[in-house]
Amino acid sequence: MSESLVLSSDPGASFTTKEATIRAALDRVLVSGWYVLGKEVEAFEEEFATFHGKGFRSVGVGNGTDAITLALLSLGLGQGEEVVTVSHTAVATVAGIEQAGCVPVFVDVDPRTRCLNPEELPTATSQETKAIVVVHLYGQPAPMPEILRFARTRGLLVVEDCAQAHGARIGEQKVGTFGDAATFSFYPTKNLGALGDGGTILTADKAVADEARSLRQYGWNDRRESLTAGINSRLDELQAAILRAKLPELEADNELRRSLASRYLDRLGGSSLTLPFMAEEETHAMHLFVVESENRDALLAQLRKGGIGTAIHYPLPVHLQAAYQGRLRGTDDLQVTETLGQRVLSLPLYPELPTEAVERTCKAILEWEATLT
Ligand SMILES: *Cc1c(COP(=O)(O)O)cnc(C)c1O
Repeated sequence: MSESLVLSSDPGASFTTKEATIRAALDRVLVSGWYVLGKEVEAFEEEFATFHGKGFRSVGVGNGTDAITLALLSLGLGQGEEVVTVSHTAVATVAGIEQAGCVPVFVDVDPRTRCLNPEELPTATSQETKAIVVVHLYGQPAPMPEILRFARTRGLLVVEDCAQAHGARIGEQKVGTFGDAATFSFYPTKNLGALGDGGTILTADKAVADEARSLRQYGWNDRRESLTAGINSRLDELQAAILRAKLPELEADNELRRSLASRYLDRLGGSSLTLPFMAEEETHAMHLFVVESENRDALLAQLRKGGIGTAIHYPLPVHLQAAYQGRLRGTDDLQVTETLGQRVLSLPLYPELPTEAVERTCKAILEWEATLT
């Protein structure tokens, strides 16, 4: 019997289900004669800020990596200043910090949340430390109350990397609204994805938003004179129009992700796999459904044989990658981070994933487990 392939993620399915509204949005831009930083970007910035609550501002930029860089620069960080973050993340987090001229210092993650472990913060921070970049990894909110409490006592700034957590909440408060600034990516596979690159900075601080708005375009003021040296990282009108078409569906899409995740949790509850942690008072954005196994590579091979696509986020922590050898700080004791790299496996998950595909994946996992003993 030949079965179809199960994809681990499928941005094309997101386009198909929203095709009419996306095409209408594209048409609107195509005939407008204005293609970069215009009315659509302004409207999207407004709508995305409002989605997060009153008083927030959003500044559209070229991608999520630049958003991290511009958030740090807009908060006044610069050359040689230390920024504490995690190594169990997308390389983009660290690339964004270095692009701002800052020096990343790593702390280990909590094995339960797979996010920054606040208990590790006191040993990681020094006189040179100016900020913490917190990653809400896989859609799991990091423990913001604990992190903020520590940051406030040390006078550290906090930037939330929300690239994987659009719409996640702690209680009623959305991630991205806890720190001094937050950053989002709209890469096509993210919970809110464009059909190309895009990103934004979110902040309640007008001065920070104004600075980011200037820095994203050569440091220009409104007379197009550069007061500070900026970069070029602009959001274009087509992507902004697409994002406006998709934003109203974000909550419903996240709900679909969570409902598929519950099915995984139900079916895999009795297995030997370590399953994602979900706290009662938190709303996980379920960007990725990441399990852990002692026999991860064998499981991956078995699923691949069954036509089930998986991915590893991330096989190699940033501090162990070739580009970062010998020049990063805080890399001595990242036990949990290094162990996760060998154990994690992302199962198929996206809003349009058929429930039968989840059933098929679970069946394949449980059958494989039965052969192990
Ligand atoms: C995707 C991602 C980014 C960067 O986004 P780009 O738009 O690809 O630059 C940053 N941090 C995390 C955790 C991500 O997953």
